[in-house]
Amino acid sequence: MAIKRKETTVIVGGGHAAGALMTALLQKKYQHDVILVGEEPHPPYQRPPLSKNYLAGEVDQASLYLKPRSMYENGGYQLRLGVRAEQIDRDNKIIGLSDQSTLKYDRLVLATGSHVRRLKVPGSDLQCIHYLHDIADTDALRDQLIPGKRLVIVGGGYIGLEVAASAIKKRVGVTVLEAADRLMQRVTGPEMSAFFYAKHNAAGVDVRLNAAVTGFEAGDQGRVAGVTLADGGKVQADIVLVSIGVIPETALAEASGLPCDDGIVVDEFTRTSDPEILAIGDCTRHRNLFFEKMQRLESVANAVDQARIAAATLMGEEKPYNSAPWFWSNQYDLRLQMVGLSQNHDQRVVRGCFEKEEFAVFYLREGQVIAVDAVNMPVAFMVGKQLVQHRKSVSAEALSDPHSELRNL
Ligand SMILES: Cc1cc2nc3c(=O)[nH]c(=O)nc-3n(C[C@H](O)[C@H](O)[C@H](O)COP(=O)(O)OP(=O)(O)OC[C@H]3O[C@@H](n4cnc5c(N)ncnc54)[C@H](O)[C@@H]3O)c2cc1C
Repeated sequence: MAIKRKETTVIVGGGHAAGALMTALLQKKYQHDVILVGEEPHPPYQRPPLSKNYLAGEVDQASLYLKPRSMYENGGYQLRLGVRAEQIDRDNKIIGLSDQSTLKYDRLVLATGSHVRRLKVPGSDLQCIHYLHDIADTDALRDQLIPGKRLVIVGGGYIGLEVAASAIKKRVGVTVLEAADRLMQRVTGPEMSAFFYAKHNAAGVDVRLNAAVTGFEAGDQGRVAGVTLADGGKVQADIVLVSIGVIPETALAEASGLPCDDGIVVDEFTRTSDPEILAIGDCTRHRNLFFEKMQRLESVANAVDQARIAAATLMGEEKPYNSAPWFWSNQYDLRLQMVGLSQNHDQRVVRGCFEKEEFAVFYLREGQVIAVDAVNMPVAFMVGKQLVQHRKSVSAEALSDPHSELRNL
């Protein structure tokens, strides 16, 4: 019997998706060589704590790592950290790295994630203007959150608001500038936006809506001293955090000729148009059988789900992606859990009590539950997950009736 040659699978990117993929391959006892190339100096780690308890100083760096480095290495996998993949020669299946070496692959998985969207206005290169995407970013920001300092956060999305909640607890003066007319507009409905607006205001955060930033003003030694607004207003600042979203990291894929469309285009098995190249996580625009159209998602759940699908594809199993997306955010003592995508709903149903800070909003389209956002109501989230995944139709009365048992739905 002919002995099969051992192949080499290279994973480019050392984030959540890459870490989850290596774990899934170890669990499946994948027989081939695996080499991870990651630009950051750390083994794969979770980013959510960067704007939550790691920023607050409640957990240490090691607790961010998905697994200790030794676990991958003991399984026979190689980690090449602090090295960037710079080009892919698809004809010869060779990757060029930033340390001038090359790697030969049989199969390649791109897990390059995303990078922050930069605000390009006058003064945006002043000192003390921060962005938040990796461990070093959080370390730099945390060092500056000193009582009495004034922090201005540009962007009222979940990351900006999580930082606001941490900073105000440290007795830093916090202003949030949001260009839209409500908070977290991209991801949630008006009830949730209004609730979080009130919560932040009550905590002492100065939240300003319809506040478009036009530039930054300089103070001493090239440091930022203020933010100017389109309506002519100004806000004083010692520190600025710009948190206005991310852009998928597709440069490597694009340069090698792989189809990209605001994300590397992959099918429900995480395959690109090149049969030897897969892509997973934030960097993809993907097919998920759960949706009618291609999606790009920025979430841990998507990174982990796609990593599992990619592991199955590498093992020669056919397991299509077919799950409802979900997400969470922690602000103060509030745990917001979200499932499904609420755009295109035609009805919203509230269950629970805003004052008690325990409620859920169900989003329906033609009677079907398409999304649920729950605050401090894990049962609504768990039940909502099932309703959304199985596209259940439930009456608005049953959803809102406090006497109807959610689990029976
Ligand atoms: C502050 C913050 C808070 C968040 N909070 C939540 C949350 O509460 N819930 C949630 O679901 N999601 C949250 N997210 C989003 C979540 O972390 C991402 O969706 C997830 O990390 C995506 O994983 P990924 O592996 O696709 O990308 P990433 O984690 O971004 O990893 C990509 C990695 O690839 C590396 N890389 C890129 N190009 C190359 C290259 N050419 N060569 C080598 N390496 C390369 C990058 O340096 C990076 O380390 C948060 C994100 C941030 C930044």
